[in-house]
Amino acid sequence: MFYRLRHDFQLSIITLLGACAVFGITPFAIFRFITGNALAGLTDLVILVSICAAVVYAWLTGDNRRAGFCLAMFTCTGGVMVATLLGDVGLFWLYPAMVTSFFLTVPFVAVVVNSLAVVALVIEDVAFDSHEQMLSFVTTCVVVSSCAYIFARRNEHQRERLERLATHDPLTGVKNRRAMEEELQAAVANYSRNRMPYALIIFDLDHFKRINDGFGHARGDEALVECAELIRRCTRKSDQLFRFGGEEFVLLMPGVRESGIRAVAENLRHKVASELLTPAGPITASFGVSCLDGTDDAESWLARADEALYEAKSLGRNRVVIRPSPVEPGCGSGTAGSPASRRRIPD
Ligand code: GH3
Ligand code: MG
Ligand code: MG
Repeated sequence: MFYRLRHDFQLSIITLLGACAVFGITPFAIFRFITGNALAGLTDLVILVSICAAVVYAWLTGDNRRAGFCLAMFTCTGGVMVATLLGDVGLFWLYPAMVTSFFLTVPFVAVVVNSLAVVALVIEDVAFDSHEQMLSFVTTCVVVSSCAYIFARRNEHQRERLERLATHDPLTGVKNRRAMEEELQAAVANYSRNRMPYALIIFDLDHFKRINDGFGHARGDEALVECAELIRRCTRKSDQLFRFGGEEFVLLMPGVRESGIRAVAENLRHKVASELLTPAGPITASFGVSCLDGTDDAESWLARADEALYEAKSLGRNRVVIRPSPVEPGCGSGTAGSPASRRRIPD
C-alpha cells in the first residue's frame, strides 16, 4: 500500500483528497443534520460517498484517469449543490474544488469542469445576494482557474521533459536501457497473459572503433544517429528500438513469430550493410536474435539474444545468429552454441 502511494503520484492525490473529504466534510454533514438542515446534510453525505467510491475504484482498478475525472466532477458538482442550498456561505467550497480539479485531471478538462460549475451557478442565480457578488465570484473563479491552469501546464511540461530524459538516449533519441528493461518485463507479462509472440534482436556495429579512431568521435556519433534512423525507418511502428549502450542496440518486436524472424533480421542486416555509409565506407552489424518462450524472464530472454550476438561476432561478423529457445525449439534455425560471456567479443 505504501509502495503504491509513494510511486503513484496520481493515486496519492486521489487518496489525499478522499482523506480530506472524510475529515473536512463529515463534521459539516453532522452539523447540518443536528441543525435540522437535512437536505444540506444529505448532500454532504452524497458527496462524501461519491468521493470515497472514486478513491476505492482507483485503488481496485488502477484507473487513476477515470477516478480523477469523476472526483473532479463530484467535488465541483458538490460545490454547486452546497452553494445552491446554503447561498454565499457554500460558495467558498468552490475554490478548493476548482484547485483540486487540476490535480485530478488534465488541465484542459479541469478548466471545462470548473467553467461548467461557474456557469451552472450563474444560470441558477440563487446562490448570490447581488449582481456585484456574482460578478466578484465569477472574476475570482477565473483568476483562480487561470493561475492553476498555468501552473498545471508548466508542471505537465516539466514532467514530460523529465520522463523523456529518464527514458531516452540523448544522442540518438531512441529509448534507453532503463526503458528497455521495463518494456521487456511488460512483454514477458503480456506473453504469459495473452500468448503474444515477441522477438528480440540485439545488434552491434562491427569494428566501430575504427570510425572513432580514424575520423573522430563526432563522426562516430553521426553514424550512431544515422543507424538509429535507418532501423526506425525499416521497422514497424509497434517495434521498439533501444540503445543498449555504446554502438549496440536492441529491437523489441511484438507479434513476430519464430517462423518470420530470420527474414526480418536478415533484411535489417542487409539494410545496414548497404545503406549505413560512414566516413570509413559502409559499415556492417552483427545480429543476435531470440524469441520469447514460456519459461523466460526478461533476463534469460535477453541473455539468449546476447549469446547469439557473441556467436555472430565469433563467426566473422555481419551475420544473423538466432538462439532457439531451449524449451520451444523452432525460433529460426540458428547455430546453437554454448553460453558465452559477451564481454569479450573476439576480433
Ligand atoms: P566489434 O566488431 O567487436 O563490435 O568491434 P567494435 O570496435 O565495434 O567494438 P568495441 O566494443 O571494441 O568498441 C566500441 C566502440 O564504440 C568503443 C567506443 O569508443 C565507441 N563508442 C561507444 N559509445 C559511443 C558514442 O556514444 N559515440 C561514439 N562516437 N563512439 C562510441
Ligand atoms: Mg561493435
Ligand atoms: Mg559493442
